[in-house]
Amino acid sequence: MDYNSVRRKTREVRVGKTVIGGKSPVSIQSMTNTDTKDAGATAAQIRRLTDAGCDIVRVAVPDREAARAVYDIKCMVPDVPIVADIHFDAALAVMCAEAGADKIRINPGNIGDEGKVKSVVDACRRRRIPIRVGVNSGSLEKKLLNRYGAPTSEALASSALDNVAMLERFDFNDIVVAIKSSDVVTMTKAVRIAAERCDYPIHIGVTEAGSERAGIIKSSAGSGSLLLDGIGDTIRVSLTADPVKEVITARTLLSCLGISEREPVDLVSCPTCGRTRVDLISLVNEFESRMSELHPPRRIKVAIMGCAVNGPGEASDADIGVACGTGEGLFFSHGKVLYKVPEDKIIQQLIDGINSFRD
Ligand code: SF4
Repeated sequence: MDYNSVRRKTREVRVGKTVIGGKSPVSIQSMTNTDTKDAGATAAQIRRLTDAGCDIVRVAVPDREAARAVYDIKCMVPDVPIVADIHFDAALAVMCAEAGADKIRINPGNIGDEGKVKSVVDACRRRRIPIRVGVNSGSLEKKLLNRYGAPTSEALASSALDNVAMLERFDFNDIVVAIKSSDVVTMTKAVRIAAERCDYPIHIGVTEAGSERAGIIKSSAGSGSLLLDGIGDTIRVSLTADPVKEVITARTLLSCLGISEREPVDLVSCPTCGRTRVDLISLVNEFESRMSELHPPRRIKVAIMGCAVNGPGEASDADIGVACGTGEGLFFSHGKVLYKVPEDKIIQQLIDGINSFRD
């Protein structure tokens, strides 16, 4: 999918070296789960996240010690855009801005009165860093809860837009909007409302999406549906799991939708059936586990099929494919049969073929 052809038009917001919005690629975010005060451990995890493909990393800042650690973290990973995540305490947000954070995430609704919000705005303006206005169903302002009766999509969108309007009154427009809910439908509807009513880039994601299995499905359904409609400039997949898995999931989701070319191959593999005569599931798992070895000149389509009857035909658009028979694999390219290799050489042959692929 040519994302920019369907993409909602937004302003551009710079977070360190990464641009969110406009026509810049949809960036991937995650959040550390180390104690931020432990700058060494946090920087090490940030590096693991960026190695996995994360563009922007958020760290929780619950107290002054954590805010001070932001400076040390930035010294250790100066190239990585760091977002300081702050609740309730404007002074911490100011400290983080001064410590070198590349973006401040606050929920203006719980950071205090307008004077406190202005102190954060002034600090961010001084350092020319953006603010992410992050609202979620768990921290909706009381007046909106009273008006709507529940954290509905309309209530969440109103909260975000009211908070954006507050920042605009301070003549501040360096804003990314995030509206999160653990309910997929509520989140997607709220984001769609906000997307129609402002032109700020939007950070998408289902928050507190649950375990790895459920979280991947909720995120794919929620964020995937928004992305298909051109909404979403940066994404976080929230999982109760190693945050590296959040990055891998986001990367895979963007690649599966054809929005990003970060994954080197688009893998097509059949579901197996009574015709399958090899351990196709193990072959595909092995291939997937060796993805980091793949360096094709462009993202290519690779097919691993369970039989020759339907293999080359069903996967005729694959740049490289293999149809497996009893103890061997028949290689093909764009439906044209090339050669056979024994079963135990199939994956290595695929990898070699992908790495030497030329159009
Ligand atoms: S490609 Fe062959 S083995 Fe795989 S599902 Fe289709 S018919 Fe079955």
